Amino acid sequence: MKAIVIGAGIGGLTTAVALRRRGIEVEVYEAGPQWRDSGTGLGLASNATKVLDALGVDLSAGSPLEYFSIRTTAGKQLRELPIGAITAELGSPIVNIHRTDLIATLRAAAGDTPIRLGARLSGYTRTGDGVTALFEDGTSAHGDVLIGADGIGSQVRAQVAGAAPVTEHGYVCWLATVPFSDPRLPAGHANHYWGRGVRFGLIDIGGGRVYWWGTKNLPVEQARTWNGGKDAIATVFAGWAPEVTEVIDRTPDAAIHTVPAQDRPFLEVWGDGPVTLLGDAAHPMLTSLSQGGSSSVEDAYVLAHHLASDPDPLSALRGYENARRDRTRMLVAQSRKLSTLEQIQNPAVVRLRDAVIRVAPMSVLRKQNLAPMRFDLPVEQFVES
Ligand SMILES: Cc1cc2nc3c(=O)[nH]c(=O)nc-3n(C[C@H](O)[C@H](O)[C@H](O)COP(=O)(O)OP(=O)(O)OC[C@H]3O[C@@H](n4cnc5c(N)ncnc54)[C@H](O)[C@@H]3O)c2cc1C
Repeated sequence: MKAIVIGAGIGGLTTAVALRRRGIEVEVYEAGPQWRDSGTGLGLASNATKVLDALGVDLSAGSPLEYFSIRTTAGKQLRELPIGAITAELGSPIVNIHRTDLIATLRAAAGDTPIRLGARLSGYTRTGDGVTALFEDGTSAHGDVLIGADGIGSQVRAQVAGAAPVTEHGYVCWLATVPFSDPRLPAGHANHYWGRGVRFGLIDIGGGRVYWWGTKNLPVEQARTWNGGKDAIATVFAGWAPEVTEVIDRTPDAAIHTVPAQDRPFLEVWGDGPVTLLGDAAHPMLTSLSQGGSSSVEDAYVLAHHLASDPDPLSALRGYENARRDRTRMLVAQSRKLSTLEQIQNPAVVRLRDAVIRVAPMSVLRKQNLAPMRFDLPVEQFVES
């Protein structure tokens, strides 16, 4: 059994690790010509850290989240959740980590897996004995199965399901990582500052660095083409909590990334014979639940489980897709719901939202936070050789 993985992002690399752990041969093909510093961070939810722990991936470069605080734009605390104590029930923490550190640790865990950079897939051909990946440079690679882990703009998805535009949600996200320390953000903390159609996140990612992000509602065309730079961002957050304005001030202009808020309508069919999709290629979602990358890690584990325990590769792929469909559909829908709540602009509704957050019973907040992170690892089933 040989698997061809297209894309060396979080999903593709975790797939390589999970397949290798099951003794399945794998080759990874990545369009980017070199590994680069992504300059952003992310939160790996408890479901993802549980999988990565089972795969033996070392996350010590990141920072386990202990406290999550929701604040006003001026920095006044609306609510603090002892999220470390809450996630203790799941047995695995949320870990905030620099993306470059995560990619490096996944690459290390993938060992000597062949990873070819500068290999941009143009399409695939199904053959009698598997599938051939075709690359823009004229080269090709053959495998028993092909896994499209090539992100929201997936070429594999376009061939499986037809090319379709993304759904744009009318806000822009700015992101950066920067060395920063401030008593208002101790280690293991994440602060979210909620405004009217504008939000800011400040998150400890370990090693004296923070990851910050900001969002602002804009007409879709402006969100897609925004190129305002740091001064324009500083203007958006002028007068906010001092730690917010300071961290923007300390961030070099070139370190700030801008992405529009996008996902896609949920795709019910991910497979085409020996081909399947994984991560953002299958189910891109908005960022609100912190589950895009985290669910791609789950996908990888479940896919490897099915390929290792079903002797028929095609039936294994369909088994994986069936196992993932309901959960990822739920995550895409919940991310949209939460995003709508977070990006509310109407002042009266914003006041109501903030009042509810202040008084909501801890038992309700606990339940809501835990629900998307509940994930049971599939039970191992080893096939007799
Ligand atoms: C602002 C923001 C904040 C986020 N925060 C979080 C968070 O806190 N927690 C979380 O879990 N998720 C978060 N996400 C989502 C997360 O980043 C994605 O879900 C995750 O990166 C998806 O991983 P992937 O491997 O599926 O795709 P990608 O990371 O997009 O990787 C795809 C790879 O495929 C390569 N590729 C593309 N086309 C081709 C081709 N034709 N041939 C070969 N290679 C190709 C690309 O170069 C890339 O390396 C966030 C996303 C955004 C935008």
